[in-house]
Amino acid sequence: MSVFVKHGFWVLLLTLISCSPQPEADLIIYNAGVITLDDARPTARAVAVSGDRIAAVGSDSLILTYRTAKTELIDAGGQTLIPGFIEGHAHFMGLGQALLTIDLRAAQSWPEIVALVDSAVQKSDPGTWIFGRGWHQEKWLRPPVPHVQGYPLHTSLSAVSPDNPVVLSHASGHGIMANQKAMALAGVNRETATPDGGVILRDASGQPTGIFLENAEALILQAYRRRQGELPADARRAMRLKMLRAATAHSLKNGITGFHDAGASFDDIDFFRQAARSGELKTRLWVMIAPNERLTPDKLKRYRMVGAENNMLTVRAIKQYADGALGSRGAWMLQPYSDRPGTSGQNTTPMDSILKVARLAYEADYQVCTHAIGDRGNREVLDIYEQVLRGDISRRWRIEHAQHLAVADIPRFADLGVIASVQTVHCTSDGLWVPARIGEERAREGAYVWQKLLKSGARLANGTDAPVERLSPLKNYYAAVTRRLSDGSVFFGDQKLTREEALKSLTLWNAYAAFEEKEKGSITAGKLADFTLLSANPLTVPEEKIPAIRVLMTVLGGSVEYKAPGQN
Ligand SMILES: [Zn+2]
Repeated sequence: MSVFVKHGFWVLLLTLISCSPQPEADLIIYNAGVITLDDARPTARAVAVSGDRIAAVGSDSLILTYRTAKTELIDAGGQTLIPGFIEGHAHFMGLGQALLTIDLRAAQSWPEIVALVDSAVQKSDPGTWIFGRGWHQEKWLRPPVPHVQGYPLHTSLSAVSPDNPVVLSHASGHGIMANQKAMALAGVNRETATPDGGVILRDASGQPTGIFLENAEALILQAYRRRQGELPADARRAMRLKMLRAATAHSLKNGITGFHDAGASFDDIDFFRQAARSGELKTRLWVMIAPNERLTPDKLKRYRMVGAENNMLTVRAIKQYADGALGSRGAWMLQPYSDRPGTSGQNTTPMDSILKVARLAYEADYQVCTHAIGDRGNREVLDIYEQVLRGDISRRWRIEHAQHLAVADIPRFADLGVIASVQTVHCTSDGLWVPARIGEERAREGAYVWQKLLKSGARLANGTDAPVERLSPLKNYYAAVTRRLSDGSVFFGDQKLTREEALKSLTLWNAYAAFEEKEKGSITAGKLADFTLLSANPLTVPEEKIPAIRVLMTVLGGSVEYKAPGQN
């Protein structure tokens, strides 16, 4: 063999090797207990990242061979690395706004809330709108005096806020308390007609009490939007940016790298796109178009985007509302409420208009995500999906909440390929009063029936519905695996998720529910390098220690975007 032939052989061999080269790692995280959620390799010790993708997963010794002079090395100190959490249903800008408003969740009485608003008024200019959120009259130590149907009256609130419009959102997200100033700006008085699908709660003389439920909220909120619309454009933009920054930071702090936004306007979407481009947005958003947007085939085509702006923004879903919430008895039930036999709840959007949207969505290849909490709401939505999908189980349409189901409807999710997008934390937040609302039997047979759904072959997504609940995947995880209520009892424990199911529900299953399981949701070579480092292994830590698990670090696309205080 001549020297030249021999030389040619080596060149060929080297060329072959460099055709499947070992990529150089930009980041290596090693000495970690890696839970991959990839069934092909459930555990590992280290990951190598190249650009914004996972290059390799394996042992420390293997992964450290990817190291070069420029590799950033992170010693995880034996802590648990999981795929970045994906929030399965929450409200991104609503969360941002909530983070900038008065938190009323811990208040234990109506006078305490009035006092909190009073101190906010002292710090605000006259005319500024003041927002609070998260009050719930059933969580107070004593009922308000006076009250109408258990709800307080606006009078004491209005007395401390004569010059500032005040809007306090109910914890359910389906009702508000407005003060006199807000009602005056909205032109609401005793003559105001009650809108369809809504309730203006009135006193014995017919005067509005300040409580507006379901569709009636819009009367007040429109007045706020009108005022906002009158602000100069740069003031509005600055406000939105503040909300987006708050929501982004809060997501990262909670270990969240992906976020299903349950309702954004086209305006919001334009804004998200700019924020992604400028690097302000550091949470990958998968967005449902808000239900009140005017939809045309042309507009849907223009706004459909998958992995836009470097995989930060996807728009391919539309949100709809079939009914309200259980707390305000707005959930649309097949039978009357057990604790108020005169009502079975409300249908909030005419079903034929949801049908029209579903047809439009099918043509434009959008997912439909319809809010349905009551068993009647769920049945009606399944009927519409069945009618439009006609056996096509590939579309991954979703029912948001899927909270109370008639036994006969449970298998229809799997049959129709419809995803039950549940909020496991709603079960433990509300479980104490659910049996009173709908009776023991409906609670046992059809409330939060995650295992029944899974066993019938259905897929679940899982979210917190923040700002209705705290944006904490770990709290949501604890709720999913324990169903433990605040009094220590367990809400029909046979429907708990296993630890592994619960962790998948907050990562891989949410990726699936967004058509993103090839990009996200597990620690697999080729996927986006989104990780969350936890202070304990959620699959093995004793149950009572789950609430103490902390997020130590959040990595988005190979870049460390959050570190807990004290973490180096
Ligand atoms: Zn929601």
